[in-house]
Amino acid sequence: MAQKGYDFFISEPNSGEEKTCRLCNSRCKSTRNVFGPTGFVSAMANKFTYHDEFVCPDTDEPWHEKALQLAIAIDDTPSKRLADLMRADLQDILDEHLRRPQP
Ligand SMILES: [Zn+2]
Repeated sequence: MAQKGYDFFISEPNSGEEKTCRLCNSRCKSTRNVFGPTGFVSAMANKFTYHDEFVCPDTDEPWHEKALQLAIAIDDTPSKRLADLMRADLQDILDEHLRRPQP
């Protein structure tokens, strides 16, 4: 499940923007001019707007899900030492799975 701000982004419709995944640094797949809710709250409220959506191509991969959970935990923990440990774990996952050359 993609998480807004990490591997899922929203911008103004037809902005021409490019986004890169905060986790694995891949270029996100973009869908221009989507008509729909831009988040959980607007989905609940049936508030539909035009926007561009960006999602990491690897978002459904199990390793990517694990990386996402680590990244969220790193942002949440008040402990610098814990964060450092989890950052090392995150780096391991990325090293293992990011073999494709970056453009
Ligand atoms: Zn990614």
